[in-house]
Amino acid sequence: MTGWVKVAGLGPGDDAMVTDQVRAALATATDVVGYIPYVARVAPRPGLTLHPSDNRVELDRANHALDLAAAGGKVVIVSSGDPGVFAMASALFEALESRPDALAHDIEILPGITAMLAASARLGAPLGHDFCAINLSDNLKPWDLIEKRLRLAAQGGFAMAFYNPRAASRPGRFERVLEILREELPPSVLISFARAVTTPDERLLTVTLAEATPDMADMRTMVIVGNQDTRRIGRFVYSPRRAG
Ligand code: SAH
Repeated sequence: MTGWVKVAGLGPGDDAMVTDQVRAALATATDVVGYIPYVARVAPRPGLTLHPSDNRVELDRANHALDLAAAGGKVVIVSSGDPGVFAMASALFEALESRPDALAHDIEILPGITAMLAASARLGAPLGHDFCAINLSDNLKPWDLIEKRLRLAAQGGFAMAFYNPRAASRPGRFERVLEILREELPPSVLISFARAVTTPDERLLTVTLAEATPDMADMRTMVIVGNQDTRRIGRFVYSPRRAG
């Protein structure tokens, strides 16, 4: 029996946003590995072993998946949203760098709806023109680099989508993010806080940069900063297709 590894995105939360491709992979898997809350979204069934693991052990988890596949397992590594966006797909390839023989397994990445796009759809179309995505966590990169990218993106006129905006382990950081944005952008720029989108805990809030406060974001929030043309229409926020 030959094993396989599929890295699957479960989407932002709503089961209706899990793709048929991901459902089919989960239906034939023998093992599911992933961060505890993501594995909890997979229904148990006979013949399927769930292997939840803690945060920040991504390389161990990827190696565990490859070990299971080497023993003939059909393994799905689950991520929230899309597995290629600040998630497990890169961790799997990092693990493969030190054990290239494992490339012989059937390896596939199954996309999902990333939080940024789910949030954007709930808000309207704030990412309808050029934009960039920035992970505000400094777990895997120096804080200075985050500040630099933030400043340059603001100067470049990009709309911005922030993942991991705030954590108890980095108090004051999101305040600093708002400070940098205020140095680079007019106070009228719109900033949206889209929390737990597509789940029962969803909350959407759009304010101006002048009105934004750090407590508007938490770890379940996508922050979307508009460009200078981003505007409201009814209950929606959108960025026009043209600029300049
Ligand atoms: N791979 C995931 C992102 C993982 S990083 C994806 O593609 O969506 C985790 C961050 O994603 C969270 O801190 C939060 O900023 C964002 N996020 C994930 N699910 C979300 C949701 N349902 N609503 C709002 N933000 C979400």
